[in-house]
Amino acid sequence: SKYSKEDILKMAEEKNVKFIRMQFTDILGIVKNVAITAKQLEDALDNKIMFDGSSIDGFTRIQESDMYLRPDYDTFTIFPWRPEEGGAVARLICDVYTPDGKPFSGGPRNVLKEALKEADEMGFDMNVGPEPEFFLFQLDENGDATTKTHDDGGYFDLGPIDKGINARRSIVLALEEMGFEVEASHHEVAPGQHEIDFKYAPALKTADNIATFKFVTKAIAHEHGLHATFMPKPIFGENGSGMHVHQSLFKDGENAFYDEDDRLGLSKTGYHYIGGLLKHAKAMAAITNPSINSYKRLVPGYEAPVYLSWSSANRSALIRIPAARGNGTRVELRNPDPTANPYLAIAVMLKAGLDGIKNEIEPPKEVLENIYEMSLERKNELGIESLPGNINDAVKLLLKDEVIKSALGEHVMEHFVAAKKVEWDEYRTQVSQWELDSYLTKF
Ligand code: GLN
Ligand code: MG
Ligand code: MG
Ligand code: MG
Repeated sequence: SKYSKEDILKMAEEKNVKFIRMQFTDILGIVKNVAITAKQLEDALDNKIMFDGSSIDGFTRIQESDMYLRPDYDTFTIFPWRPEEGGAVARLICDVYTPDGKPFSGGPRNVLKEALKEADEMGFDMNVGPEPEFFLFQLDENGDATTKTHDDGGYFDLGPIDKGINARRSIVLALEEMGFEVEASHHEVAPGQHEIDFKYAPALKTADNIATFKFVTKAIAHEHGLHATFMPKPIFGENGSGMHVHQSLFKDGENAFYDEDDRLGLSKTGYHYIGGLLKHAKAMAAITNPSINSYKRLVPGYEAPVYLSWSSANRSALIRIPAARGNGTRVELRNPDPTANPYLAIAVMLKAGLDGIKNEIEPPKEVLENIYEMSLERKNELGIESLPGNINDAVKLLLKDEVIKSALGEHVMEHFVAAKKVEWDEYRTQVSQWELDSYLTKF
């Protein structure tokens, strides 16, 4: 690893670090942390920090609740937005271990590591680059989030200087100080909507980066008097927020998706990876699009995918192959959204792709037409299916997909499915404004 124990102790001392946040992610993708003081840092680096797993959603039962945090030294980072005076704040991302020294199977980071192990056994390293989108909304007089924005920008618009632009600038600067390589940031299509793209990296690092990116964005936006939300569809009738995921496999340092002799420049491995993603996309949706609100984004007309197809160009397809070839050859899956647990989402995408490679799953023909405008007949003729229409259907499909289930493992499956059932039951018994508007006076 990049840092040794001594390096971290030295950095903490030099930077006057007084608090260290020991971070991990629960099954639903929420970052949790316990702050320790600098005095405890050495013990923490020796994996001695314990916590009560029974209080974390989806972790353990009360009678077996002791869990240990094993920090990944390379994730040591100082929070640039916290004051240095009086003591700086740093964090370490941790793996969750059981008292008998085994990786806890309910820990999402452990799930991703398992999937990466399988890739490694097949000789592959996975690189991932995400494109998270989000909205910046104003706060009301009580400091609570609204869905109001003071920004009428659209795609790639320049500012009159508003807080959206300033907040985005501060977010990018903070991320860079934390070691992110930010590649681009821009206004997105909807008013108040933004995107920040950071450089692709090995899969585990990107999952850590996505988890970090979300809370950094929220923290900095708050300093600008704004609320950042990664909710996929906060405003009816406007584009939602997705998180396209670019993915590639490397073998012996070479991009395994590239073949210069192929018509599209893709290798067999590349085609099979696409085949695997398409085969499992419906079941994976429960993980890549895990909220009720996720499915309000996945409707025609807002640049979000609905249909299972791939294309070398077409942005209405679920999978697009960006134009870069050589080591930049990659597959872009366009349905994930930022409510996904990044560890679980990357784990299932990888396992779906590896299934494609192992079983030589040929993808269907690529679709070059705009699928949003295609007639139902034409779609049927081409055999184009749709993603599930809601989380309940997605979970049912997940329960039938052995490859994706095994990627998640029994513990995560059990707790995830139970949590989604509660969420769905709560949602489906609500009486919404739409219903009142439609029926209250009519009947
Ligand atoms: N916001 C769109 C989505 O929901 C994507 C728009 C874009 O990046 N071109 O996926
Ligand atoms: Mg983009
Ligand atoms: Mg975008
Ligand atoms: Mg994209």
